[in-house]
Amino acid sequence: MLVIGSHVSFNGKEQLLGSAREAISYGENTFMFYTGAPQNTKRCDISDDLTNKAKELMKENDINIENVVCHAPYIINLANNKSEEKYLFAINFLKEEIKRVEKLGIKKLVLHPGSFVDLDIDTGINNIINALNIILTSNQNVLICLETMAGKGSEVGFKLEDIKRIIDGVKLNDKLMVCLDTCHLNDAGYDIKRFDEFLEHFDKVIGTHKIGCVHVNDSKNDMGARKDRHENIGYGHIGFDSLINVIYNERLKNVPKILETPYIKYDDGKSYPPYKFEIEMIRNKKFNSNLNKDVRSYYEK
Ligand code: FE
Ligand code: FE
Ligand code: ZN
Repeated sequence: MLVIGSHVSFNGKEQLLGSAREAISYGENTFMFYTGAPQNTKRCDISDDLTNKAKELMKENDINIENVVCHAPYIINLANNKSEEKYLFAINFLKEEIKRVEKLGIKKLVLHPGSFVDLDIDTGINNIINALNIILTSNQNVLICLETMAGKGSEVGFKLEDIKRIIDGVKLNDKLMVCLDTCHLNDAGYDIKRFDEFLEHFDKVIGTHKIGCVHVNDSKNDMGARKDRHENIGYGHIGFDSLINVIYNERLKNVPKILETPYIKYDDGKSYPPYKFEIEMIRNKKFNSNLNKDVRSYYEK
């Protein structure tokens, strides 16, 4: 079965219940959320009441909670330890985040490996390994999915070999999986148009059984640009057919696919989520060249 969803919001007031409602409004059978704003680390206490209501709603709508994914805030950087205070803060935040995610009953937490900034790649990788060895515990149910990065700036993890080094260095690496991001892979120089060859390569370096999540995004840039600018499905340099190939690949059949494509922005300053229509395109395997118009008329009807 196709397991498809998108990034949805999560706020303190409605929590997982609000996220599930949003996902259902787009016709999704999974979703991904941050436990607060992606760019900061302010977080609310998890309400069991809201979580239970969310689980109920998910059941009624065929959303298997096992497929729901959480994303750690992207300011958390385990690769740089120049400031001991910031490094320890990141470690502690992730420990707490794992507890929150656990309390919500979610199994997968996507994490950007980090950026080494003014250090070097080897030191960056060692910092990530060291941090994960402090963070992970043998009794946790949550799996950390290390995301493949675009390679902008000093990002660690745009080469599969670097992710493999992290996995090899972490003692409890049965708690680690990988999140593929099609935009990031393209920008990092991997050819998504030849996805089967890519998977062969992935299988040799890491092993496809380690793929826990796929972020499905088109890219505004050419292969190898190392930029990381997401584009709507079929509107970028990867293209509709190649993304459909990824989504329906037999080897990734049960892996949740999550859209992180940009909201459609209009000249008058309005913007709306594209997900309902992108999911429709994906389910029909048919490109919609009127995405802009369809989205606007749906939300303004
Ligand atoms: Fe990400
Ligand atoms: Fe991503
Ligand atoms: Zn990205």
